[in-house]
Amino acid sequence: MTNLNHLTIAAALDGLKNKDFTAVELTQAHIKAMGSAKNLNAFITETPALALEQAAESDKRRADGKAGMLEGIPLAIKDLFCTKGVRTTAASHILENFVPPYESTVTERLFANGAVMLGKASLDEFAMGSSNTTSHFGHVINPWKREGHNTELVPGGSSGGSAASVAARIAMGATGTDTGGSIRQPAAFCGIAGIKPTYGRCSRWGVVAFASSLDQAGVFARTTEDCAILLESCAGFDPKDSTSAPHDVPDFRATLESGVKGLKIGIPKEYRVDGMPAEIEKLWENGIAWLKEAGAEIVDVSLPHTRHALPTYYIIASAEASSNLARYDGVRYGLREEGKDLIELYEKTRAAGFGDEVKRRIILGTYVLSAGYYDAYYIKAQKVRRLISNDFTNAFERCDALLTPTAPSAAFAIGENEDDPVKMYLNDVFTVPTSLAGLPGMSIPAGLNAEGLPLGLQIIGRPWDEETVFKVARSIEKAAAFTALPQSLVRQAA
Ligand code: GLN
Repeated sequence: MTNLNHLTIAAALDGLKNKDFTAVELTQAHIKAMGSAKNLNAFITETPALALEQAAESDKRRADGKAGMLEGIPLAIKDLFCTKGVRTTAASHILENFVPPYESTVTERLFANGAVMLGKASLDEFAMGSSNTTSHFGHVINPWKREGHNTELVPGGSSGGSAASVAARIAMGATGTDTGGSIRQPAAFCGIAGIKPTYGRCSRWGVVAFASSLDQAGVFARTTEDCAILLESCAGFDPKDSTSAPHDVPDFRATLESGVKGLKIGIPKEYRVDGMPAEIEKLWENGIAWLKEAGAEIVDVSLPHTRHALPTYYIIASAEASSNLARYDGVRYGLREEGKDLIELYEKTRAAGFGDEVKRRIILGTYVLSAGYYDAYYIKAQKVRRLISNDFTNAFERCDALLTPTAPSAAFAIGENEDDPVKMYLNDVFTVPTSLAGLPGMSIPAGLNAEGLPLGLQIIGRPWDEETVFKVARSIEKAAAFTALPQSLVRQAA
């Protein structure tokens, strides 16, 4: 039998149902994989004992005929989701010892459906980054390497630990959050699938806030079908989140295989950015050809305000971050550094508790919100955000979904881009506009570059139309037939 940790979620659910193996056995296989991939540093907190306990309960529920939708499936949980009684750090020193007294809605739903938690996956500090190199707990390493090279590469960010653990077959799926690309970009860098649903589809309750008008929870897995299963089991209205939408969650799997025949797929011309590597261009062309072959109609569309998306995002996201992170003051919870008075306590706590990237965003955000600059930056950015959103509305009058590359490059080396924050921010050029418009976006592995690294294609849908996004992703997945494994795993799978 194939190693249990190489199965898809769909196959594992079948295997559990048919009594081919138990949830405890499945969990043990993943704990073993976690143990032999410590070098990836994918987890901030591993919870193997809890996982085995949950798996035993899961086996009992199944035996009692009470199996949930995810019964017995071992997952990694991004350490931005509060987990009751299990330390939740946001990868920050300031929350290093924070043990939440409550559970996030997304994780509560996953557990209510029978999921097992292997541990809390690492991320960029407070989800700010594209490389998972800003975590207080050290870099996360991508399980993929350039062919013939030993250079350690980033897994992408901010949900780097989630993506690396799914790619390395430590977890069958994972939660992520995406504010400007943090699910889609790491999915592309790690050769797996990841979806950021429509803003408001998954509850933000219990998710440590970065930029509230952009933050959206979503999922990673190795196939489109697995993403559909995971999303269905954690999405839906939540009265505890005022931006959660009262929409029913469809059975995403029901329409997954219905194909793209007759669908119109838009290709935004503004995404042909200067300096895009030829291999990304080629990947995009392949995606277009596959969809055409499957019966879709390809239409050229224009998103004229695309070039303003990055500055707009970094103004709005930083402004909201500076406001959200004001709560870490050393008084209520988290790190506390004593001072001679209250002001000094604040200053010392925040100076010691936050890393450089978080401080950069707080300073930037405070600046754009300050009297005198508020209109010039923050209000202006809000107006441009509307124009960017209108671009998509107009494009969707001519097509049903958009196809673009996920990121302008494959995974880069640890340390690269580090000295130049703007270069790092350019990584988000294809993902940020979708976030500003609140639309669903998914990355699906579509091929390898000349160095043997995975590349992803992004599908963007209309609001609340994850079904079409999944359908298009499934069509690409079938055509791309992406079966490559990170080098370290090739032997294991044989
Ligand atoms: N890379 C982007 C940023 O640094 C996006 C992060 C995210 O989506 N959480 O803000």
